[in-house]
Amino acid sequence: MANRKIVLFGGTFDPIHPGHTAVASIAGEYTGAEKIIFIPAKRSPLKHFLPKAGDDDRLNMIALAIKGNENFEVSDCELKQPEPSYTLETVKKFQAQYGIETILYWLIGADSINDLQYWYRIAELIDQCNLSVMYRAGFDTPDFGRFEGIWGAQRIKKLQQNVIPTPLIDISSTEIRRRLATGLDISDMVAPAVADYIYQHGLYR
Ligand code: ATP
Repeated sequence: MANRKIVLFGGTFDPIHPGHTAVASIAGEYTGAEKIIFIPAKRSPLKHFLPKAGDDDRLNMIALAIKGNENFEVSDCELKQPEPSYTLETVKKFQAQYGIETILYWLIGADSINDLQYWYRIAELIDQCNLSVMYRAGFDTPDFGRFEGIWGAQRIKKLQQNVIPTPLIDISSTEIRRRLATGLDISDMVAPAVADYIYQHGLYR
């Protein structure tokens, strides 16, 4: 029997936007995974500022954005922790939960490649799961050649093989927050239910 495959998608999702859901869906198809789990972070260990929206609001907006997509789930496992979680620890928890036979993927956008070398025990993370880098508008096509001296040829090969050539969707949470802060309309930049939630709760003003 083929191994189960599950895609894990971490991020701040502040707020979640169609760039996230579109690439997640494509990554799910590309890998043949049975489900994609969105995992909002308390805050990125590498970003020294807190998300602008609270944990519950970000979680609620993800739930609204993924409603009706039966392959999507959201997990509050990182939000429940008192401190920001390292990806390696989260991946290990899911591996323990789903069992060693399940193949796990962890998605990141191409904008995060330069930061990767600073991730907590990154070499172990590359070994532990399929760290899958997706294309992102405004950023170079993923290439890991410059890291060969640090992580070794095998890990570079694995990273390169796991690249997912997602379509370029030019949208970011930063731009959505910027527009809201200056009173501009964002209704074409997030799912309708997420836009309603943002306006009803007065987020990002
Ligand atoms: P911000 O603008 O606040 O940095 P973001 O739009 O990059 O936010 P995150 O929540 O940080 O959103 O993203 C979670 C993950 O999704 C990251 O790995 C990021 O690279 C990736 N990602 C976000 N938007 C896109 C997109 N449009 N295309 C491909 N990957 C994306």
